[in-house]
Amino acid sequence: MHRRWPVLRGCIRTHCTMATLEQTKEIFRRADAVCFDVDSTVIREEGIDELAKFCGVGDAVREMTCKAMGGTVTFQKALTDRLSIIKCSREQVNKLLTDHPPQLTPGIKDLVDRLHERNVKVFLVSGGFRSIVEHVASQLSIPHDRVYANQLKFYFNGEFAGYDETQPTAESGGKGRVICMLKEKYGFEKVVMIGDGATDLEACPPASAFIGFGGNVVRPQVKEGSLWYVTSFGELLKELEKI
Ligand SMILES: [Mg+2]
Repeated sequence: MHRRWPVLRGCIRTHCTMATLEQTKEIFRRADAVCFDVDSTVIREEGIDELAKFCGVGDAVREMTCKAMGGTVTFQKALTDRLSIIKCSREQVNKLLTDHPPQLTPGIKDLVDRLHERNVKVFLVSGGFRSIVEHVASQLSIPHDRVYANQLKFYFNGEFAGYDETQPTAESGGKGRVICMLKEKYGFEKVVMIGDGATDLEACPPASAFIGFGGNVVRPQVKEGSLWYVTSFGELLKELEKI
């Protein structure tokens, strides 16, 4: 299969540079870039579950999402399976955004604004869908070229036609691949990943540090695996005020 994003040489994946809570906080205060997961991190819900509910297949898809989170199936298979049930049209996606726009997690707007003021580049790196994530990015004044997410495909009449399987976020380990690419493209030295899920934790390394977020849902294995685990964005904002 053709891959648009090859595994980049020179991107260190063998060890994580973060070692202690204090070092993690230090990296966050001095970060060149911060990458946020979206579902259950920047927004309160899981986008694909909301889309499924809106399309009338909420229960079946929620069960599959739980399985995917538990890591018993590959990310790509879980995504393909769920979308084959949802089969949303372009119109349904647009109507979801109008009728049930994604709900921002309290404190995220202040945090992103503060990061922007400090000239830190903010990225949204999501296993969810670009059309939904771009809507979130607009609310946070994040340029759309800093959004990495999966792309739904539609036929000319708006019917569901699958998704773009060549996006790095369509595969297990995809978030790490995006971070490698960002480091190479922009020359970032310190990149922080923030998220609630196992795929976010796995992105460090190549991320320089990982911050676990439990403000919407607490996933025990992520909490245990995080040197720094927070349940509100206010905690991160407070840390930034130290320098
Ligand atoms: Mg998430």
